[in-house]
Amino acid sequence: MAFALSDILAARQTIAGVADDTPFVPSPFMTRETGSEFLLKLENMQPIGAFKLRGAVNAVMNLADDVRGVTCCSTGNHGRGVAYAAAHRGLRAVICMSNLVPQAKVDGIRALGAEVRTCGRSQDDALAESLKLVETEGLVEISPFDDPYVIAGQGTIGLEMLLARPDLGTILVPLSGGGLAAGVAVAAKAINPAIKVIGISMDRGAAMHASIAEGRPVEVEEVASLADSLGGGIGMNNKLSFALCRDYLDETVLVTEEEIYHAMQVLFYEDRIVAEGACVVGIAALLSGKLSGLPGPVGTIITGRNLDMGMFHRIMAGEDIRLGDTLVKGRAYGT
Ligand SMILES: *Cc1c(COP(=O)(O)O)cnc(C)c1O
Repeated sequence: MAFALSDILAARQTIAGVADDTPFVPSPFMTRETGSEFLLKLENMQPIGAFKLRGAVNAVMNLADDVRGVTCCSTGNHGRGVAYAAAHRGLRAVICMSNLVPQAKVDGIRALGAEVRTCGRSQDDALAESLKLVETEGLVEISPFDDPYVIAGQGTIGLEMLLARPDLGTILVPLSGGGLAAGVAVAAKAINPAIKVIGISMDRGAAMHASIAEGRPVEVEEVASLADSLGGGIGMNNKLSFALCRDYLDETVLVTEEEIYHAMQVLFYEDRIVAEGACVVGIAALLSGKLSGLPGPVGTIITGRNLDMGMFHRIMAGEDIRLGDTLVKGRAYGT
């Protein structure tokens, strides 16, 4: 597999000045709780509020000169990243979404300069529309995780963490399609082969975890989660992120919705950080005792801040949260 640190070093140059080199700061509370130094890589501070800008910028800047524009079907952070990156290069971007996507998300992506196409009632319908645009309008589709330039862009996070702290012993990475975990693990292990890189997902609908266990990409049922950015499959024809995660991650771990709920409160009340449920899965795994005895210092990636503030308020107030057919029992912080 031709993917290496050199791809990530090239990405670092390509994205410089567009995606920021973010702060890597201590969490005094988690350091006290776990007994080893604990650090947070603040990707919530990127211009679009999430790390996906890195991969999107690297992919868009590496397209041929005669490209007509780009498309993707993400309603979330990847869609924002592609929209921002395309605007930066002066390219047309068409982001496809199902008709069920809330208007606020449509408006958010339009505000970044992209066209939005809504059609159908599912993510699959949106993907079909996006692929149609590849055929009919000559746009290039950018995968959220299964693309070497995207993975290299996300890998610059691992590079920055090791440049700032060469003594890092463990990195805890939120895991969905695996573009982030693959890039970070390749970067970190090229610099220090002994470092532990652990991928963490929610326990319902963890496609990469199930695929690694099976030894091949498998489909899992997608269910609502507080870590909504970690939902979705890895693609049955996965080309790169599956093999890299399988080969480079030391372990994958799952956390419950209650553990995510509590960890979101911890990150806010202890570290004063507003972040998505997807960001706190590493903190959740440590506080629940599912991970222990890790070599320190330990770093995790606060991947994004694009969450529903109404729901955030309810979690901080300790209220119950209904997610589809399940109820996450609330609890006021510190009680
Ligand atoms: C996309 C995303 C992830 C997971 O990244 P993958 O490359 O799909 O594993 C984690 N957190 C946030 C906020 C994201 O947007």
